[in-house]
Amino acid sequence: MYDIIIVGAGPAGLTAAVYARRAGKSVLVLEKDTFGGQVTFSPRLENYPGFQEISGNELAQRMLEQAMALGAEIDMDTVTEVLDGEVKTVVGEAGRYEARSVIIAAGARHRRLNLPREEEFIGNGISFCAVCDGAFYKDQHVAVIGGGNTALQEVVLLADICKKVTVVQNLAFLTGEEKLIQLLQSKNNIEYILSLIHI
Ligand SMILES: Cc1cc2nc3c(=O)[nH]c(=O)nc-3n(C[C@H](O)[C@H](O)[C@H](O)COP(=O)(O)OP(=O)(O)OC[C@H]3O[C@@H](n4cnc5c(N)ncnc54)[C@H](O)[C@@H]3O)c2cc1C
Repeated sequence: MYDIIIVGAGPAGLTAAVYARRAGKSVLVLEKDTFGGQVTFSPRLENYPGFQEISGNELAQRMLEQAMALGAEIDMDTVTEVLDGEVKTVVGEAGRYEARSVIIAAGARHRRLNLPREEEFIGNGISFCAVCDGAFYKDQHVAVIGGGNTALQEVVLLADICKKVTVVQNLAFLTGEEKLIQLLQSKNNIEYILSLIHI
């Protein structure tokens, strides 16, 4: 029985493991896929304090090594269920584990468009975060898919970096806040493709 089981060995899960070990807790981290999580998709990070430039893989490796050096147990398993109780039971495809506490750090999934070869280009032309990756598209023409607040905030940022930004929206109108829409109207390098249903 562990003090803490952490589901997911992405940056959040590994950070939790470091803190938990430093607090003297026994820790098991279960990962279903890639140690390091989504950050391993990023070929180059330039916004992680302490590293002027580092690949996602290298950063993930360092996080993993740090957690292991502190004594966290790390294993591969896909967690399918967590049963509550005074002792929590974590059910995986490969085994069952018990802990006093469970931290779910399973991350989030970006919604895909299901385009041909989409997965192949993630991190190499397709991005999900303008703050993270916008600088890689400096002076280029980029498309932002979506017309809600999140997308329009990304457009505001990209319009200052990129040569041109095309906003592609499946509805006939933008659904973001009026204030954001007005802000975008003050920029002259944004074009809109609306009502595009079958992307
Ligand atoms: C292409 C790309 C570029 C990026 N660039 C940057 C950047 O430059 N700078 C920056 O700060 N951020 C960047 N990010 C974002 C950063 O990667 C995420 O913010 C970060 O990875 C989130 O960490 P997390 O641990 O919360 O989740 P995740 O990284 O998603 O990790 C969750 C982990 O949980 C595992 N998991 C999920 N379900 C289960 C289960 N049932 N059982 C076991 N394991 C499970 C997953 O396999 C995964 O490894 C980028 C992301 C992408 C995709």
